Amino acid sequence: MKYKFISATLAIIALAIGVAALKPLDISYASSIAAPAATPKTNQSVKTKTVRELTYTDGEFDGKEIVTTDEEWKKILTPAEFYIMRQEGTEAPYSGELTDNHKHGTYYCAACGLAVFSSNAKFESGTGWPSFFQPIFKKNVIEKVDRSLSEERTKVECARCHAHLGHVFDDGPRPTGLRYCMNSVALRFKAGK
Ligand SMILES: [Zn+2]
Repeated sequence: MKYKFISATLAIIALAIGVAALKPLDISYASSIAAPAATPKTNQSVKTKTVRELTYTDGEFDGKEIVTTDEEWKKILTPAEFYIMRQEGTEAPYSGELTDNHKHGTYYCAACGLAVFSSNAKFESGTGWPSFFQPIFKKNVIEKVDRSLSEERTKVECARCHAHLGHVFDDGPRPTGLRYCMNSVALRFKAGK
């Protein structure tokens, strides 16, 4: 009986020491995850905006295509990027960050980094999507007939990786009369001349 009492007491003491030892650990853990500058590690459920590194390629497309399977793209792209660039989705109007971007610079394919549009050809279309009257080089985009809707449209792809970027319509301003209606998600902007 006495032995039982002692062992029970010891167990309580051991537990108390354990809790005391754990407590400072809990606090330091909590403060480290609460730090605002903490970079997200492998926790994919954390909705932190991460900018995937992309190597930008300026100039006219050299003809060397990038062939990557959808499975590979799925690993590389964000779900929104994958939906738009590999499944020909369209972002909601006025949802994109680049629609009202008025800075001077170059717009690159968000999948492979090839230059596709220049701020010199950007105009206010009032549609809610970034709009251009011409690509940076004709060779840098591919235009294909799109019959996914009842009205026939022309879809625009990156010439290098075939990422879907948007559509082109013939109601644009001068000098081309074209309106390249792009998805902001499919573009990366880099400020410059
Ligand atoms: Zn591309």
